[in-house]
Amino acid sequence: MNAAVYARKSQEKEEAVERQVENARAFAASRGWSVNDANIFRDDGISGAEFVDRPGFTALRAAAKASRFDVVVTMNLDRFGREAYRTNGAMLEIVEAGCRIFTYQDGQEVKLDTAIAKQMVSMRNYAAEDFRDQIAAKTREALIAKAKLGHATGTRTYGYDLIKVDKHVERRVNADEAAIVRRVFEMAADGIGNRRIVNTLAEENVPAPGRKGWAKGILKTLLVNDLYRGVIVFGKSRSAARGGQASRRERATPGVTLQAPVLRLISDELWAKVQTRKTATRAHYLRTPDGKLMGKPEAGLAATHLLNGIARCGVCGGALSYSKKNARTKRYYCLTATTKGAAGCKNGHGVPERELDRAVVNALHEMLSDQDTVWQLVTERAARWRRAHEIKSGERRNAEKEVARLEAIVSRLTDAIEKGQPVGDRLKERQAELDTLCGRLEVPDDIDLDRDYLVVELNKWVGPLVNGNDPVQTRQVMRHLGISKITVTPDPSGGWRFDGGANLNGLVGGGADRSPAPPPDTPHRSPGAAALRPACAGEAGARTS
Ligand SMILES: [Zn+2]
Repeated sequence: MNAAVYARKSQEKEEAVERQVENARAFAASRGWSVNDANIFRDDGISGAEFVDRPGFTALRAAAKASRFDVVVTMNLDRFGREAYRTNGAMLEIVEAGCRIFTYQDGQEVKLDTAIAKQMVSMRNYAAEDFRDQIAAKTREALIAKAKLGHATGTRTYGYDLIKVDKHVERRVNADEAAIVRRVFEMAADGIGNRRIVNTLAEENVPAPGRKGWAKGILKTLLVNDLYRGVIVFGKSRSAARGGQASRRERATPGVTLQAPVLRLISDELWAKVQTRKTATRAHYLRTPDGKLMGKPEAGLAATHLLNGIARCGVCGGALSYSKKNARTKRYYCLTATTKGAAGCKNGHGVPERELDRAVVNALHEMLSDQDTVWQLVTERAARWRRAHEIKSGERRNAEKEVARLEAIVSRLTDAIEKGQPVGDRLKERQAELDTLCGRLEVPDDIDLDRDYLVVELNKWVGPLVNGNDPVQTRQVMRHLGISKITVTPDPSGGWRFDGGANLNGLVGGGADRSPAPPPDTPHRSPGAAALRPACAGEAGARTS
């Protein structure tokens, strides 16, 4: 018979994996079974609660299903797992594949052929799980006791060294790292986004916690670590294996909260500033530095992709939508081309998400940073609007006569209807003419443009873009700028260019009410159209291949 071996170890005190393999081999040999090296499966340092990321066990189950051996030998049932239901299931699967299971510690075969046999195995698997629970509880208790004394319990925290004192380990402030921690908090308090902080530190070759260098995730945990304000908090989470994953954790009431002033690196004031800022950012709400709300995210839309619903296909005019065809191609694709194929639209190539997003954000940024151009566009447009609405005095007299004539006609037609005479569409038509004419005769309000106001507005909206790695926030800025559509057209050279229009009315004179509304039929020919277009077309096209 062909035998396989399975060995697993997670705890320090357990028998080494290689020792388990040796013993299992010896047991197989005593039975006259042969063990092929390819059929030895090992998981070293993996919890028995782990059923998803346990390569050795996964391979064993697959090989058993493929009938690569007749028997599998292991130390005891705990090796298969310490989560009773999942262990039961996995064992049943192996046995039903025609493979027998033997445990060398007691020399027994694990039988699952009758209800009572299954019940016996279940009891042993239950005991294995209970043992793990008890160990976990004891470990937590022991660590809480340590933490209560102010002793270090886990891995090193950036900013501190771990020093062995007597039989325990204590933290000491590491001056170099402490200076970096302070700097990171100060940058965050100034509203600099995590990505920009990461880039700055990486550019300056500032030593990072861990081997992988500075990353947004590291910063996120660093900025909420209570230790930096001199408070030891232990046990905020506990292990809670779920879905066959041993590494899952759940929130818990902290076991220990302890003041440790000698470990303080950050003042309470700076801490509070950062937390307030981060909370506001997390909520995706745009706020001014004094906390005033600037914009709200679109209701019910978790826009993880900046241009979904905004980007349009330059070939067919259809929507471009983000799609991840595989790990490498994260692109926006024309929905018409996707759903109807080349018959619907020939633009099947897609636009790289990162590049397009970045180019659009850069264009927005340039637009908002260029106060002179925006002011010029706004004033030019206001002048055009004024000219278009001006009526010469001669024209006005004629128009007033015409109004009088039309009013008389409308009055006659109304009388006719009351007498029951047919008038067809005539009343409707004359009424429409009259309305149009009256509209032209209205004197336009003088447009009150305020350059100081514009400057304040531009600065207000450029801030979120500087921090802007957040598509939800960037979309709020775009909405405020009246950008609802960006057309992306593929270039014969293989690149692409985009253009879109903005409505900058909200940026001047206190809002759209006091400044000219864009003509309703051509909303994208408003002032910003020109501003967004030249700023980005060349750059974006050159960047892609
Ligand atoms: Zn298309």
